[in-house]
This record gives sequence, C-alpha cells and structure tokens, in this order.
Amino acid sequence: MSADTTIRGGEVVLDGAPVRADIAITDGVVTAISRDRIDAPTVIDATGCLVLPGGVDAHVHLSGGGGPAGSETWADDWESGTRAAAAGGVTTVGNITVPLPGETLPDAVRRVAADVAAQSLVDVLLHPVVIDESHLDPAQLTDLRALGQTSIKIFTVLPAYASRRQQFYEFMAEAGRQGFLTVVHCEDGDLIGYCTTHLAHQGRADFRSYGESRPDTAEEAAVAQLIAFAETSGTPVYVVHLSSRRALAACAAARSRGVPVYVETRPLYLYLTEELLQHEDGAKYIGQPPLRRTDDVEALWAGMRFGTVDTVATDHAPWTLEQKLAAGDSLDELRPGVADLETVRPMLFSAGVATGRLSLARFVELTATNPARLFGLYPRKGVIAPGSDADLVVWDPAESRVIDGSRMQSRAGYSPYDGTVVTGWPREVVSRGELIVSGGEVIAKPGRGRLLQRGATAPR
Ligand SMILES: [Zn+2]
Repeated sequence: MSADTTIRGGEVVLDGAPVRADIAITDGVVTAISRDRIDAPTVIDATGCLVLPGGVDAHVHLSGGGGPAGSETWADDWESGTRAAAAGGVTTVGNITVPLPGETLPDAVRRVAADVAAQSLVDVLLHPVVIDESHLDPAQLTDLRALGQTSIKIFTVLPAYASRRQQFYEFMAEAGRQGFLTVVHCEDGDLIGYCTTHLAHQGRADFRSYGESRPDTAEEAAVAQLIAFAETSGTPVYVVHLSSRRALAACAAARSRGVPVYVETRPLYLYLTEELLQHEDGAKYIGQPPLRRTDDVEALWAGMRFGTVDTVATDHAPWTLEQKLAAGDSLDELRPGVADLETVRPMLFSAGVATGRLSLARFVELTATNPARLFGLYPRKGVIAPGSDADLVVWDPAESRVIDGSRMQSRAGYSPYDGTVVTGWPREVVSRGELIVSGGEVIAKPGRGRLLQRGATAPR
C-alpha cells in the first residue's frame, strides 16, 4: 500500500473505540486504515498515543479586518485564534460573523473569507448573524448556499427579534427548507432588562450581580419559545452555549417528542460555578449566559453522557485580563467571553475521559463528529475514515500539564482554568494531511486554512 504520509502505531479511535492501526494519507485525505504496517516517505509515530479526529469547534469569535474601529475587537484575530485552535487539536472552527452596518449576510461572508484566506491556520465555517430586517431576505440564503455556508445565527436578545418575531420565524423556516441550521442565542431580553433595571435601583450594577441580571429563567423562557417554533414549523434549530438544568430539561423533553432541537454547551459551565463571580477578580469569568450552580453543572455532564447535549464548543471570545477587569463596574459594559480554543479538548478529556465520567466515544462525538454532522461537513470532517480529510490528532493520554494562559497561544494572556492540572494533550496535529503541530509546537503558516464548502445540516 502506498501513501505520502502514515501515522504509525497509534490507538486509532474508530466508532468510539481505540484500535491499534496505521493510517495512510495521500493528497490530504485518509486512504486506508490498516492493522498491517503502512510505509510512506513521511512517518508520524503515534506509539503510546490515541489518534483522534481533528476537533470541530462550531462556535468562536475571531476579530477580522475590514471593519470600522470598534467592530469585532476580541483579543484574537484569525492568526492567533486559529493558532490556539491548532495547539488544542481543533482543526475546524465555526465563526460567528457579524455584518457591518448596511452589509448583507453574503457580503459579510465574503469579507471574512478574505481574512480566513490571509490568516487562518485551520479550516473554517461561518455563521452570519441576522441583525435586523434588512437580512430577512430569502435571496440572501440562496447566495449563502452558493458560498457554501449553510447556517445563520440569531440572537433572541436583539431588539429586532423581539419586535419582529413572526418575520424571524418565517425566515428561519425558509432557511430550514433550504437545508440551513439556525444557531440561536437563547435568553429573554425583556426579562434581562427587567432584572438589570431592578438591580440598578438597588445600587447593584457591577459584575457581582451579573448572575442575577441574567437568571436561568431567562434562558429557559427563550428556549421554550424557540422549541415551540421548531415544533410547529419542523425547523431545525441549535441552541448555543446552553448553561442551565432548566433549559436543558426543556430541550431534552422536546427531543423526546421528535423536535429537531440541538444543544451546545461550553466549557465554562462544565467546570466553574457562580460563587466565582463574588471574588474580587470575578469579572474574568464573565460569559453570556453567566456561570450557574452545581446542579446545573451536574445536569450538563449527565446531558453529555446520555446524548441530550450534542456538542461542546468554546464560544472563544477572548479579552485580556485588564480588559475584563476594567469593564467590571457596570452590567452594561461587561465584556463576556473567554479564551478556550487551546483548552477545550484537554480539559474535557482530563475531567471526563481520564476520570471515567465520559466515554472516549462521547468525547469524540461532542468535540468532532456531532458538529461535523450538524453543520454539513460529515463525513469529510469529524471522523477517521477512508475518503475523509486527514484531520488527525496524535493525543498523548498520559501527558500532564498545568494550565497557564500566559504561555498559551491566545492573546488573552490568561485562562479561566489557570493552575488546573490536566492529563492528556495533543502532541501532533495534522490538517488535510499537513503536519501543523509537531511535538506540541505550532508549525503551520497562516493562510493555509480554507473556508469549507458545506452541505445541508444532517441530524446527528
Ligand atoms: Zn458566542
């Protein structure tokens, strides 16, 4: 058997179970997986390691060029953000793409595609954000499909959504008919406004009141409304960064009735709880929605185990520690989001797989296979199989590291998990057959990543 590259001697994770095998790669694609030895000019030794599909993180925010000052100003641009992704074993990222004032959804995709082509180290999908009624135009969906992008992002907290919900429903239903997945931030903006005003009257307007300003009932209410729409219309919807037991229970009940509602959670809600917001530096843990309680954490872990949580994505929206803390005095000016691309898989592997809390099969589904299916990339991404892109991670299950954001790739310069000891880390990472991380060092050049051409969403 001939190949240009082989990954030799690893425990290859196929259908969730590790199998000792060699992998043959030719022209960026997996051509064979064999228990027999495969020879090739380039050999990547995986002895003692797992070989996993490259991670698919469907939810990141990276800053782009081409916009006016002040737009999309997270700490990571496409280069530093995708460097962090590569270092963490993530070979595909899905970016929330915010149109500039007056810009159509397809034009936003074209603008950001230029950033991807210039800077990205890994492959990319884009979720353009429906901001206002100018975007509620079926012709824009047709153009997005021609650009290979088959998802849109909705924020239920935006004023346009609250005031024109029927039109948003019609647009989401049309998107569903065209094979799109609608990605939705679910919180009830009116309830949040009510809580925030009430807290302000009490003189409680800093980060310590953040949890009370966005209660789990606000998430549950928005999720219930979205489920009602999905159930009535048959439109597939994907709830981003679900944080609470109550909202998860609503989604699980809907799923059991056959409603096409899919659930993403993010690392913050799996490891941290609301008490941290009372610390002096509590503003550094601000994400949207806020940190919750221990019973919420337990519910999300159970959801990951039993399949009511479909994906773990980072919502990587990094700020520096100085930026986070400086914005802590006012609930209106907080900077939600943390850097997580480099830590998402090691943290989940360590807290889940290494402890026996999560099977290796579920780990791979949550971080690779399920997002690939839902976002129209399967089986090109998210699985190790002949014909799939050779996006592969040689994962050392025994490597122990202490998380230290000041030494990682994100320009955030800190991690909410600083000081945590984790077991399991990527050693080599291959993207479309090219070695992009070697011995834990990122060696890829910016601009090699591609904007992926996607198909219709497929149920996971
Ligand atoms: Zn987000």
